[in-house]
Amino acid sequence: MSDGENAIIVVGGGWAGLACAVQLTARGHAVTLLESARQLGGRARRVAFDDQGVDNGQHVMLGAYHQTLALLKQLNIPLEKTLQREMLDLYLLRAHDHHFQFRMPHLFSPLNLLFGLLGSKGFSIRDRWSAFLLGLRLFGNAISTEEDISVAQLLSRYNQTDNVIRALWEPICLASLNTPIEEASSDVFIRVLHDSFCRSHRDADMIIPRVDLGRLLPDPAFDYIEQHGGFVHLSQRVTELLIEKRHVRGIKCDDNRYDAAQVVLAIPPHACQPLLKPHSALHDIAYNMSGYDYHPICTIYLQYPPSVQTDRPIQGLLGTTSQWIVDRRVTGQPGLIAAVISGPGPHMQLENDELGALVQDELQQLFPHWPAANAVQVIREKRATFNCRVGIETLRPTNRTPVQGLWLAGDYTNTGYPATIESAVISGQRAADKIHQEVTKA
Ligand SMILES: Cc1cc2nc3c(=O)[nH]c(=O)nc-3n(C[C@H](O)[C@H](O)[C@H](O)COP(=O)(O)OP(=O)(O)OC[C@H]3O[C@@H](n4cnc5c(N)ncnc54)[C@H](O)[C@@H]3O)c2cc1C
Repeated sequence: MSDGENAIIVVGGGWAGLACAVQLTARGHAVTLLESARQLGGRARRVAFDDQGVDNGQHVMLGAYHQTLALLKQLNIPLEKTLQREMLDLYLLRAHDHHFQFRMPHLFSPLNLLFGLLGSKGFSIRDRWSAFLLGLRLFGNAISTEEDISVAQLLSRYNQTDNVIRALWEPICLASLNTPIEEASSDVFIRVLHDSFCRSHRDADMIIPRVDLGRLLPDPAFDYIEQHGGFVHLSQRVTELLIEKRHVRGIKCDDNRYDAAQVVLAIPPHACQPLLKPHSALHDIAYNMSGYDYHPICTIYLQYPPSVQTDRPIQGLLGTTSQWIVDRRVTGQPGLIAAVISGPGPHMQLENDELGALVQDELQQLFPHWPAANAVQVIREKRATFNCRVGIETLRPTNRTPVQGLWLAGDYTNTGYPATIESAVISGQRAADKIHQEVTKA
């Protein structure tokens, strides 16, 4: 460990902590990263299913994830091999009914939306017209509400038809904010739509990892940090912050003391709060953190014979418990289907075997020619994301704290985005840039 006067510690090896540690390393600082789990990655990590590697939850990125893509490039990760990038194609299947399809062509905004809606399927002319008018306002930055309201209120204010709500805006909202439209913050939703659909014409692209999440960032980031003079310590839970006269002095992991002049807490609010609470200078931030609540995401992996496949890598489902299925052929795992359930719901009351059976039954009805699955694994992440509810923006902290040398990073800080890996990466890199400025000006 480097000498305490200049040492920099990053607490938490999720994507925010890794992005922060890599950025500091790239700027010439030796960093020590402490992670409580036995592996890196946090909420975006590799897990085992039978004898293969899967993810704790199927992750999808967008072309608008500029910072994440830049980070992967910085680590010399070959993006063509590790990521499958496709034009946004929302295909939603409803049992015993017609399907909906909306594709976002590679055209400049608002032509992408216009042609996307013209070519869409399952929507009436009135549906398309209502969505297009909302899209035009979005493009012209002309959607304003005096105060944050729910996405459902916003959609009703802009006269969106029922079909467009149920088969376009609601699935997009749930997938990106992991929060039902009745609670979701319209401020955050508008920003997500604007930044994905109204800037560069490829920002709306869907990007699916072709490797497990561990191979995508945590493994190469670990190598990079250690090869450039830093240290990564696993199974190290930080239990105490050492602060004197509003200056950070280090941290404690159980009985081990690590001295440091800069400490980044790249851990979620529920883990951060107990560390901040004992220090009066941090009471306000700790208090705001108690205002966060969380929504789950469940992923049900179903292993079918390798011949089972879907027509496209991702497809949406309407009227079923799971909202999306991903054909893991994309990760070289033929026959493996990941069914995703975002947000809260009655499914959280079911036991894992009941939930697995329910999802399997529902898929059987939609795809009657599929044989039974050979193996099923349910992974529940109860605190997958913060609840991106109305008013959430007022709680989100900056990276800087009132204690000199103590920084916050994570998807929940004030990036303006929902809990996503892009938000985590932006936050981690911002914290690193601020530390670099502070340390080099001293
Ligand atoms: C199932 C699921 C599906 C998702 N799908 C998507 C998606 O499709 N697209 C997308 O962009 N995002 C998705 N997300 C969200 C995304 O994964 C998160 O926003 C992102 O990973 C958060 O990163 P983070 O570094 O801010 O926090 P975390 O990943 O929570 O990292 C914090 C780390 O700190 C460690 N830690 C906690 N306390 C301590 C302590 N006291 N001492 C030391 N270490 C500690 C934790 O073990 C953890 O590794 C999904 C999340 C889940 C769970």
